[in-house]
Amino acid sequence: MGRPLRPRGKLLQEDTRRHHRSLLLQQLFREGPASRADLARSTGLTRVTTSDLIGELMADGLVEELGAPAGSRVGKPPMLVGLAADSTHIVGIDLSNDDRMTGAVINLLGQVQARAEVTIDGASGQAAVDKVHRLAADLIALTDRPVLGIGVGSPGVVDATGTVIDAPNLVWADTPLSASLARAFDLPVFVANDANTAVLGEHTFGETGTGGLMVLRVGTGVGAGLVLEGSLLHGHRGAAGEIGHVVVDPDGELCACSRTGCLETILAVPRLRRRLAESEDAEEVLTRVGEQLGAALAPVVGTLNLQELVLSGPQELLDGSLREAVDRSIRSRTMPVSSEGLVVRASTLGEDVVLVGAAVLVLSGQLGVS
Ligand SMILES: [Zn+2]
Repeated sequence: MGRPLRPRGKLLQEDTRRHHRSLLLQQLFREGPASRADLARSTGLTRVTTSDLIGELMADGLVEELGAPAGSRVGKPPMLVGLAADSTHIVGIDLSNDDRMTGAVINLLGQVQARAEVTIDGASGQAAVDKVHRLAADLIALTDRPVLGIGVGSPGVVDATGTVIDAPNLVWADTPLSASLARAFDLPVFVANDANTAVLGEHTFGETGTGGLMVLRVGTGVGAGLVLEGSLLHGHRGAAGEIGHVVVDPDGELCACSRTGCLETILAVPRLRRRLAESEDAEEVLTRVGEQLGAALAPVVGTLNLQELVLSGPQELLDGSLREAVDRSIRSRTMPVSSEGLVVRASTLGEDVVLVGAAVLVLSGQLGVS
């Protein structure tokens, strides 16, 4: 069987229209309010097409007229149009914490409008899925706006359809989380790995540069998400960024994955806290872990020539001696050309990075903006 042909005729025209709508929304999302003439110039669409589509987006409520800019010159001032930030809301859910599931109602500009959470209380399997459903229902009840979709950042490996292939902490295996939420709420649903969700949040709403970005998410487990050349890196089997189970110390502790001395066994929050409790010199422990982490990341930085490495997780653990040791260790192990422009820092979005990233999944999937 060959690959099915693309639908032709009318559908193709609708594809083009959808693409043009996304171009305009993306421009407004990235650059803020603009006149129709400016939008036509920056997107390369004709003025007629631009006016037509802006009219359509206004009828949908996604775009609104904002008046003329202050201090415009004589003559008829141009009317600015912009995204109607609260015309529709997004439900974002973060499943990366070990004790609770957190959620937020987020507007089109990535601003949190309301929050809710449920405690996990050891729930796993279907009981944990039920808790996600309850949290989604609570969040939907917190907004009086139409909901554009539900985005979820989940631990574990998640496939392109939003099925969680393997998340040991929640005892999920081939769990169709996206499909069950879509069925229950009749809304578009997007589920992705929590570290990938975090890097999308940081890339879209954090103050990032245009070079390669890696977000290392440190929680119950350890994982990374990468945005390279403006795109999320998926990898051959959707497991790009799974650095938590790379062995860094063959003589180290036993890992949940049954190997010995994975990065996770030195860096995961519960293990790190335990080691700090057992030691009298916290700075020494954090520095040593930072050096080991730097040694594990140096080949990645050297290979990809990253611009930014973001450490996301409990800041009291990560954003001090540990971060400084990572920075030092990477620089001492790579050529200057690899590390000169490198910035090692904490997330500008703090603990909201996964929630906001979950909103980006929906913005990108439903409106074509990110
Ligand atoms: Zn492991």
